[in-house]
Amino acid sequence: MDKPLCPVHSTILYLSDQLDSGKLKDPKSRRISEHILRLIEEISNGHADKEHLHAIDELIEEYHHDKEAADSVGLEIGKHLREVLTKDHETFQSHLETGNCASMDCIRLAPSPCQMACPAGIDIPTYLSLIGEGKDAEAIEVIRHDNPLPWVCGLVCTRPCELMCVRARIDTPVSIKFLKAFAAEKAMSLGQYKNPPQEPLNGKKVCVIGAGPAGLSASYYLALMGYQVRIIESLPVPGGMLMVGIPRYRLPREVIDREVAMIESLGVEICYNTRFGKDVTLDSLRKEGFEAFFIAIGAHKSYTLGIEGEDTYKGKGVIDSVEFLRRVALGDRRVPGRRVVIIGGGNVAIDAARTSLRLGAESVTIAYRRTRSEMPADIEEIEHAEEEGVEFSFLTIPTAVDGDGKKTTGLKCLRAELIRKEDSDRLYPVPVEGSDYIMEADAIISAIGQFVDVEGLEAFTGIKWTRRGTIEVKHTCMETSEDGVFAAGDAVTGPATVIEAIGGGKRAAEAIDRYFNKMPQPRIPKVPVRYRREKSIEMPASTKMALKRPEMPMLNIERRRIMFQQAELGYTENMVREEARRCLRCDICRRCGKCIDVCRDKMGIGALKFGYMDFDHPVETDFRKTSETCITCGACAANCPNEAIVIEEKNGERILKLCGTILNRQKLLYCESCNAVLGPAKYLDYVKDKTVGVAKVLDQKRTLCGACLRKKGAF
Ligand SMILES: Cc1cc2nc3c(=O)[nH]c(=O)nc-3n(C[C@H](O)[C@H](O)[C@H](O)COP(=O)(O)OP(=O)(O)OC[C@H]3O[C@@H](n4cnc5c(N)ncnc54)[C@H](O)[C@@H]3O)c2cc1C
Repeated sequence: MDKPLCPVHSTILYLSDQLDSGKLKDPKSRRISEHILRLIEEISNGHADKEHLHAIDELIEEYHHDKEAADSVGLEIGKHLREVLTKDHETFQSHLETGNCASMDCIRLAPSPCQMACPAGIDIPTYLSLIGEGKDAEAIEVIRHDNPLPWVCGLVCTRPCELMCVRARIDTPVSIKFLKAFAAEKAMSLGQYKNPPQEPLNGKKVCVIGAGPAGLSASYYLALMGYQVRIIESLPVPGGMLMVGIPRYRLPREVIDREVAMIESLGVEICYNTRFGKDVTLDSLRKEGFEAFFIAIGAHKSYTLGIEGEDTYKGKGVIDSVEFLRRVALGDRRVPGRRVVIIGGGNVAIDAARTSLRLGAESVTIAYRRTRSEMPADIEEIEHAEEEGVEFSFLTIPTAVDGDGKKTTGLKCLRAELIRKEDSDRLYPVPVEGSDYIMEADAIISAIGQFVDVEGLEAFTGIKWTRRGTIEVKHTCMETSEDGVFAAGDAVTGPATVIEAIGGGKRAAEAIDRYFNKMPQPRIPKVPVRYRREKSIEMPASTKMALKRPEMPMLNIERRRIMFQQAELGYTENMVREEARRCLRCDICRRCGKCIDVCRDKMGIGALKFGYMDFDHPVETDFRKTSETCITCGACAANCPNEAIVIEEKNGERILKLCGTILNRQKLLYCESCNAVLGPAKYLDYVKDKTVGVAKVLDQKRTLCGACLRKKGAF
């Protein structure tokens, strides 16, 4: 077995070894060790509270109980434990606070892969389970522990969680993203989308620069903790790139408005049309009593193409995508050109293309220097663009902007071929000599990336910048190198995602609170919190297998080409409830495969065909197959370290369930004489076969229990 990474788990192994070795002779030291072992096991099992560490501390002192009597082994153990608890205090504390063990060594606290993949650490299995039961408002409450914008994220998140979803090993990942949007919309429309209780104002003021997702997230958590928060925002609208980047056909403005209003209702003040460093200064804000600053200004400057003619035709047909999308978002509905060419291959390029189409462009072409499969844009976004009529020109390298002196007329390009450089797996586009041609265009939109606009931040003399022009922070707490100044979102990561900005904003809020309370900042990354251990939803194996990820209903294509109406229409309620039930509950079953091993190797039955968790035997997973061979002996359940697979007897049946999925149910037989439960027939046959010649379990004609058989034999 590999050495455990988790200090909690390795301390359990260490103490068990010490106790088993027999070296620890002194009875009092043994009792102390046993007591500490029990307490640490409780931490590892999720049955501990904050008093546990205190109690362990006190017990360690007791190894010194009686200087003469104290044995050296006990003192050694005490010394070792003291060292571990000092060095790894944060990890022990984190087990207590989060209910998760990041290294998965503490099996009962092994977190689900989706939760670990989420940059905001949302407790996904719990909220899916609640949505499955129709408890949308409760689901939103769980999500908002880590993400104050569930509705927004339900529509635009890049869903790293779905990439890690274990259900994909059976068929397709659970549609986690959209379930969140449904629950938020439903809870909002029923008036059940509520803010949690807020701490009373503590008299401390925090200034947040930027009302994008990072700034909003930090403001929400700070306001809940009792801080007075003011957001300085240069635009006339909140949301940052949510509002002025992501087009409204993907994210309706009302969704942002409603979730921002929830944050404002906590007392967060947003000063619009106010640019930090111009309209307000660090000095003026300090004079007003702001003691901590959170920089969340995003990355709003676009890289230029660096090709001939770009500067000449800037504003005369050449525009960058961020500026173009911002103008449209703020009300400019003019079509950028009749024939639009967009340069780039990411989501921003796709957004600019689909927006141009909706504004009335006759032709829209995305020019990308690699091929479709190398495009960084989300595949669904590419497909939607294709459906709407966006064209793609792959292996295209722009070389110059062509024009008639007054405006753009085309884009000069070269064909590219992809070559693999030595020591690299990536394919690089290289121009093919003599392949030059012109793409006709009266608008050229560049979408090749953004960087941070540092103008106005000069007053923060203590912050350090990375070589990429982003703000340097300690990622565990988003603290910059200037005292009392924190930063997160795109300003730190470079252009990234909404959920990363939200996660960073929350970490910063917690760090700002520690800053005010003069508490040390964490050294290890925060482990996501498991808020509940929701009961699994029960259903037959056939249902679990039959449920399929629903197709997203879309607005008809004609409207999509001409209107900014939301393109994805959303699932129906029935689709949502069923989709939530496809979740395999990886927060409970950590897929250790013990059940499979026991059934196959120890019992010789092999009824559990779960290829999704058994990489050595990658058979197709089919929960329905279990009942064909399973004898409901219960060996799997008895060996499951996390009670994920359970066996129970109810209403005359023995039932085997894996996280609620009913794998098998068999009728119980009873002793015909005393009515004691004997077990299902298949199980009794198995026992009979195994005990031939050892014991006679059943009467040849009558079904009797062991005791009645013995009684009968005595007559
Ligand atoms: C077109 C486009 C589409 C995208 N699509 C997606 C998507 O589908 N899914 C996804 O997850 N991510 C997407 N992203 C990325 C995502 O929007 C960003 O990663 C996210 O918004 C970053 O959040 P932030 O809070 O760090 O910054 P921003 O959202 O950029 O917000 C920064 C705010 O700070 C303000 N500001 C800047 N400087 C100052 C100053 N000096 N004074 C006052 N205010 C200032 C800005 O006006 C802005 O409101 C997209 C980005 C773009 C451009």
